[in-house]
Amino acid sequence: MTEFEYIIDLHRNSERQGPGSEADTLKALSFVTPPKDRPMVIADIGCGSGGQTLTLAKHTDGIIKAVDLFPEFLEELDEKVKAEGLENRIKTVQASMTTMPFAKEEFDLIWSEGAIYNIGFEKGIRQWHKLLKPGGFLAVSEITWITENRPKAIDDFWNTEYPEISRASKKIKQLEDNGYTLAGYFYLPPESWNDSYYAPMEARFDDYLERNDHAEAAREVVDENRREIALYNEFKDFYSYGFYIARKDG
Ligand code: SAH
Repeated sequence: MTEFEYIIDLHRNSERQGPGSEADTLKALSFVTPPKDRPMVIADIGCGSGGQTLTLAKHTDGIIKAVDLFPEFLEELDEKVKAEGLENRIKTVQASMTTMPFAKEEFDLIWSEGAIYNIGFEKGIRQWHKLLKPGGFLAVSEITWITENRPKAIDDFWNTEYPEISRASKKIKQLEDNGYTLAGYFYLPPESWNDSYYAPMEARFDDYLERNDHAEAAREVVDENRREIALYNEFKDFYSYGFYIARKDG
């Protein structure tokens, strides 16, 4: 197994592969105005195993294309779609978020929770702009500083991990500079990290190590996540995922 496959394996059979909750998805959705005369056409980019995809399907009349690079997650989502009888509403698409097989102005809504960092926020919002209909909505969550002043330890950590991290005002300006107008903003509360993401992950550690025969690479994945969790608990007042909901200028 490659290092990457060990990481994917840790996230198997989990509801979410990143911070976020049903309440957050619904809060973000409350800022979106759907078209009046037809079902909303939605892309869910970096959908993972589809926690938020199912919420979107149940709380809109939308037709959803759920995109992820990794078939392991899409297979899990396909099973849930079948179990819920949502085959007519959700189609999974295996593709990279940089080269998606979609038409210009295909979507009323582009959704992406905890995933745009894979190509970077600014590049993502630029590339996806053409896929949205004028007046369509973009809803993305993205790691964001909550405060202007931060302890050096956490500032250094994130500036190395993801140098695009910034305050919300900078991300909002980037949206405005790239043909969007902000419709709503909030950041995820600690429960969305701990209860929906970290606690279920910690509960999987033992079984994960067991099924991987305590391989060194598996132990490293667990150690790294433990460090990330400790860091979050120490510094959670300073960063979170911001949820940005914006409308494409007409
Ligand atoms: N939206 C889900 C998953 C977030 S984790 C949730 O919030 O639970 C980030 C997801 O992005 C993973 O499922 C990962 O497989 C996917 N991903 C990573 N790089 C990608 C890429 N280049 N194109 C598409 N998806 C990608």
